[in-house]
Amino acid sequence: MIYIPASSQAWNMALAVGLALVMACSSPPSSEEPAGSVASGFMLTHAEDAELAAFIARIPAVDNHTHANTILPDDSESDALPLEKLPEFPFPARLRPDNPERIAAYHALYDYPHHDLAEAHLAKLREKMQRVAREKGEKFPEWVLDRVGVDVVLANRVAMGPGLAPPRFRWVSYVDALMMPFSTKHEAAATPDTLVLYPSEEQLLHRYLADLQVDKLPETLEGYIGKIVIPTLERQRKEGCLAVKFEAALMRSLDFEEVSSEAASKIYSQYHPGGEPTHAEAKALEDFLFRTIAREAGKLGMAVHIHSFQGPGGYYRAAGSDPLLLEPAFNDPSLRGTNFVIVHGGGMYASHAGAMLWKPNVYVDTSGMALIYSPSTLAAVLREWLPEHPEKVLFGTDAFATGPDSGWELASWLGTISTRRALAIALTGMMRDGEVTRARAQEIATMVMQGNAVKLYQLKPE
Ligand SMILES: [Zn+2]
Repeated sequence: MIYIPASSQAWNMALAVGLALVMACSSPPSSEEPAGSVASGFMLTHAEDAELAAFIARIPAVDNHTHANTILPDDSESDALPLEKLPEFPFPARLRPDNPERIAAYHALYDYPHHDLAEAHLAKLREKMQRVAREKGEKFPEWVLDRVGVDVVLANRVAMGPGLAPPRFRWVSYVDALMMPFSTKHEAAATPDTLVLYPSEEQLLHRYLADLQVDKLPETLEGYIGKIVIPTLERQRKEGCLAVKFEAALMRSLDFEEVSSEAASKIYSQYHPGGEPTHAEAKALEDFLFRTIAREAGKLGMAVHIHSFQGPGGYYRAAGSDPLLLEPAFNDPSLRGTNFVIVHGGGMYASHAGAMLWKPNVYVDTSGMALIYSPSTLAAVLREWLPEHPEKVLFGTDAFATGPDSGWELASWLGTISTRRALAIALTGMMRDGEVTRARAQEIATMVMQGNAVKLYQLKPE
């Protein structure tokens, strides 16, 4: 189902570039170009079915997870926990400025005519980028989607803003702050990363209180849930939110245990007047509130997105982001009215994320992996997921700005073309192994790129 016409000239150009890349990648390597060499920014290591790849290149996509920017010059609301606040850590190679795949991306987005990233060429490119942004104005983000071949993106942001309008840009809010009503000083002291992350959550909670015109916390946990948590979720839903997002794994482990409301209320009442909760007390209150927020979000028709990956950060605790840690929460019968998406597919724990797809209300997306992994690595992940639960896998990029020459549009293009290619590799394998017919492979591709998200979020044709 194509529910927004994508028939502009720009779309056709994006498609042509995508197809050209797909064809280049699927043709046998020439003698000057040994298998494994870099051409058009992609590794020639797989021969995917050309017809299937061309079909996949044409599917107008729904991107489950991005940090698309507004057109404001210093947009600071694209993430509740901006990466630039973290102490320096090694950025994955594919996100660095010298990634040769950028040449193809610049070509597709800005008609970049060069075959290198020479400084003189980049200087011209920067002029072009500024000119396009100026000329397109509020229409710039939509122009990006046409170029990339994406119909709709979910923008995971503190708030939406100029240029990011529905129906093509849909909001996913942040809710970790609601789990932490009291001082987080003790928790923040755990690592140099958490030291800078927790204060951002405190600020966001203050903003949520201000939005409700509340200047102090209610005295009881019941009051906090009824006067702060639920009204905040209701406001977000009213403003068009499709899902709420937890970035908890950047700060703590994902083992949200079952805590009785009596135990949680006791902790709340004890620290309402002030003081520093111990780690065990802070965790218990967060665990209780995580499940409360997830339950209430589900009642309001919002999905719950949960970050699960081996980064970011130099002090990040990868072991704490294992999706298996979420199993007790996923198995909570009172949460079965809420749909969960394991965002970034669990990364190194992709098999564990796949195991959670047996729960009727759990999904995975390819975001993050689409940018950081090579298409062949992502293809291996998809090859594992798709034979079991093809209706639970969502395309996502995690498109975000990574530097002055790389706005979110660059990552949007790279992550989209990468996922299309990974999907073609995985489904070609399934076709050749006799697991699926060509028709079924096309059907699964359409589900992953678009249909599963349309169903999950009940997106309506415009
Ligand atoms: Zn993200």
